[in-house]
Amino acid sequence: MEVLRRYRKVRRHQLDTLGLIRRRNLSLQRPRVCILGGGFGGLYTALRLESLVWPDSKKPQVLLVDQSERFVFKPMLYELLSGEVEEWEIAPRFTDLLASTGIQFFQDRVKLLHPLDHLGINAPPGSGSGGTVQLESGLLVEYDWLVLALGAEPKLDVVPGAAEYALPFSTLEDALKVDNKLKALERRKFGKGSEIRVAVVGCGYSGVELAATISERLQERGIVTAINVETTICPTAPPGNREVAMKVLSSRKVQLLLGYFVRNIRKSRDAEESFYFRRNSEDPEMRKESGTAKGFEAEDDVEKLILELQPAQRGLQSQILEADLVLWTVGSKPSLPDLEPWDTPHELPLTARGQAETDETLRVKGHPRIFALGDSSALRDSDGKILPATAQVAFQQADFTGWNLWAAINDRPLLPFRFQNLGEMMTLGRNDAAISPSFIDGLTVEGPVGHAARKFAYLIRLPTDEHRIKVGMSWLAKSAIDSVASLQSTLTRVLSG
Ligand SMILES: Cc1cc2nc3c(=O)[nH]c(=O)nc-3n(C[C@H](O)[C@H](O)[C@H](O)COP(=O)(O)OP(=O)(O)OC[C@H]3O[C@@H](n4cnc5c(N)ncnc54)[C@H](O)[C@@H]3O)c2cc1C
Repeated sequence: MEVLRRYRKVRRHQLDTLGLIRRRNLSLQRPRVCILGGGFGGLYTALRLESLVWPDSKKPQVLLVDQSERFVFKPMLYELLSGEVEEWEIAPRFTDLLASTGIQFFQDRVKLLHPLDHLGINAPPGSGSGGTVQLESGLLVEYDWLVLALGAEPKLDVVPGAAEYALPFSTLEDALKVDNKLKALERRKFGKGSEIRVAVVGCGYSGVELAATISERLQERGIVTAINVETTICPTAPPGNREVAMKVLSSRKVQLLLGYFVRNIRKSRDAEESFYFRRNSEDPEMRKESGTAKGFEAEDDVEKLILELQPAQRGLQSQILEADLVLWTVGSKPSLPDLEPWDTPHELPLTARGQAETDETLRVKGHPRIFALGDSSALRDSDGKILPATAQVAFQQADFTGWNLWAAINDRPLLPFRFQNLGEMMTLGRNDAAISPSFIDGLTVEGPVGHAARKFAYLIRLPTDEHRIKVGMSWLAKSAIDSVASLQSTLTRVLSG
């Protein structure tokens, strides 16, 4: 207990020296902005605050808190499976990104929130605290302004067995786990009749991009099946994107089971097979070969899974599907901190899905000192529809949140957020993509051109100039090497007749 108290004291001292926990002289201290979550919403808000011009006494102290040590550019997680990008390119460390800024980063998990702004603290900035945040380490952070940007997490507990046997694909850790599973299966399985079977649950963007990427990676060594409750893939996507995706999936022989929902997932009861794999995993040589020596769970790698599919449409028959790997891409739940128990009468206003409701200036309704953006927030457009949970929305909201914080701290009017839909993009493999820009009706760019355009669009959205330059150089070098390699193989083919 004493150790914990001392630890808290040391950590408290670390932040205290930054003036982020307690204020000694209220009038002399700069405003304290605490940003929870360093994704598209949180990190880009912090960088926007850093880029603005502040009167000296008003420049805020910015603390960014995230449970992870890395920012993750989620739309490019698929490229980790195709080997197109390296981990550092799409998941740089916060400490590296923020090294030349005044933003403080703290790696910790957010636990409890105790807002005070509903008590009528619309008083002049600097006159009191907006509330406190308790972190899992026990640290208490006092803030004047809070930004909630904790995103959302996958929801797997919807059908029996999904949480135990299916893998989500939402974080860097998820992507690395899927990659490791695929590597283990690739080492073990080969040849006709022994293909790697991958089932992807859900055919929204994420399911389709995963199915396209994995089917391209496995080629004839694998059979990818994608299951959707609707009778089409990507039902909300622009028709052009959907058509291109359908074409690519069918050229890669992805099996589509449309109009089905997954009733449950379980381990195969095939005793012989379990015995075979158990025996192999007990053999030290086989374990070494299968990757157990590198820390992979051999039994996990080889277990066969059974999916029971129930028709969601008339005229379809129930199906049983066998898979070596099940990927779950359906559903998510917003991440928000719990409130201190005595705050319950002043809970944050939430939608039925659990997102924090904001007004159009992106402040949580009833909480003038709390801004919320990205997947864990809900802002309705003029038709009353909640904006989609996408990086595009979070990225644009970060710009406004930064600006509106500046305005609030400097007693200027806040701007209403207006979402500008720039279009939709999807990756379909190493050299394939579909892009439907919103400004040219009916246009869909596909194939290598679409792929290059998507990569460029993401390159310019990577955080910080320094990181963008490093990644740009790395991609240029890789594409030069790829071009030389493909020229070499063409020449070899031509010369060998
Ligand atoms: C595989 C994949 C592909 C995608 N592709 C696209 C795409 O092509 N286009 C598009 O527009 N959108 C895409 N999205 C959606 C997009 O990534 C999200 O909408 C966007 O990341 C939301 O931003 P955010 O800041 O709200 O949340 P996130 O970017 O998820 O950031 C939330 C941060 O909060 C941290 N956090 C969460 N809980 C805690 C806690 N308790 N304590 C401390 N830290 C915490 C997390 O570590 C994370 O860093 C994709 C998503 C995924 C998963």
